[in-house]
Amino acid sequence: MSHLFYQTRDRRPLLDRAEGIYMWDVNGKRYIDGSSGAMVSNIGHSNPHVLAAMRAQMDKSTFGYRLHFENAPAEDLAAKVAELSPEGHDKVFFVSGGSESVESAVKLARQYAFVSGQDSRWKIISRSPSYHGATLGALALTSYEPLNAPFKPMVTAMPKIPAPRCYLDRDNLSDEERGLRYADMLRDRIIEEGPDSVLAFIMEPVGGASTGALVAPESYYGRIREICDKFGILLIYDEVMTGVGRTGKFLACEHWNINPDIIATAKGFGAGYVPLGAMTAKQHIVDKILDAGGFQHGYTYAGNPIACAAGLAVIEEIFRHNMMENTTKVGGELLAGLGRLMDKYPFIGDVRGKGLLTAFELVSDRETMTPLDRNLNAFSQLVNIAYERGLIIYSRRSRGGVEGDHFLVCPPMITTSEQIADILAILDDSLDELATILNL
Ligand code: PLP
Repeated sequence: MSHLFYQTRDRRPLLDRAEGIYMWDVNGKRYIDGSSGAMVSNIGHSNPHVLAAMRAQMDKSTFGYRLHFENAPAEDLAAKVAELSPEGHDKVFFVSGGSESVESAVKLARQYAFVSGQDSRWKIISRSPSYHGATLGALALTSYEPLNAPFKPMVTAMPKIPAPRCYLDRDNLSDEERGLRYADMLRDRIIEEGPDSVLAFIMEPVGGASTGALVAPESYYGRIREICDKFGILLIYDEVMTGVGRTGKFLACEHWNINPDIIATAKGFGAGYVPLGAMTAKQHIVDKILDAGGFQHGYTYAGNPIACAAGLAVIEEIFRHNMMENTTKVGGELLAGLGRLMDKYPFIGDVRGKGLLTAFELVSDRETMTPLDRNLNAFSQLVNIAYERGLIIYSRRSRGGVEGDHFLVCPPMITTSEQIADILAILDDSLDELATILNL
């Protein structure tokens, strides 16, 4: 009997070892890590350079509390992150995960308003559906019904606007018009809430688990930035899933040339080697807070030297092996392959994504995008079928978590074209089996 507990009673086999994009359980069965865990193991497993960097740091020191010592790996990693971040993001605050990163972004924004004499501004508008983390503050920004429901009333319920799920729309607008229509919902919501009460807008530049790799039309991104500027509202990008190369750029905001005011990252930073994340902000925001006496926020393990040494090695490996270029190349092959599966299986309603953050969604009718009957539990059935066949994919209910089934296919950034073909072949067989079982 195990004494562990997680979300459910479901248990998987014990993991034995992992290397590259492959993982083996203790029975010797091999799996392709087609979702990089939870979109985390971006550079693959057991990377020797990262392991060596961690060992070297462990031999020197494993912890030094920040009130007593600075540590070189944290300094070096902060300099690297600042170099790779949009202009003005010269200050880096380390955390140990995505929820901490988002909490830190929110608290930075709140304290910025406080020290600027603008503490009437406290509302942070987010999108629905969205996922911004599991802690109570981040959960108040999250809009995903099964995750929110047990904890209502939220610590503070925050206003939401619809995520730009244009693939569900059946109007005659062009892509550009649709992008603007969704972005303008932010303007309308700010006006409705009262502009003096709104502090920030937070969004995932490419949706993660909640919307399944949702990419908005081009026009959306610039218009959101304009609206935030117009109303003096901070723009926070939650790049916890998209950051550190997953979409083919170091940060997804680069695709649209957007410079957010605050950026939260995590997952791919530690890349499955260590718990690590970073929150960056424009220098004037941080300076204002530091000048006023200091940021009233922090975590004991922040800037841990082993974690930062690993994070630095992860970034070095990404550049040394041109992993972002590979991500763009094989991500394109993966998306095209998913498109071919959509041609073959009428119950695939949509295929979407950027780089190696891709997804497909199952429906009962592609014309109307009617979701499959939720009692079919397609979202867990297909994952289990693929798992049996040695492929790990990640699924969620798509429509705000209450219905719909989408699947994220997000292998590590080192995946080769041949391995993408293997993933697609297993997916093809798995979809075929699902169709038989569920009579689709
Ligand atoms: N934000 C986004 C966009 C995420 O995808 C996640 C995790 O999936 C989080 C925040 C929370 O990250 P963590 O699970 O590391 O706390």
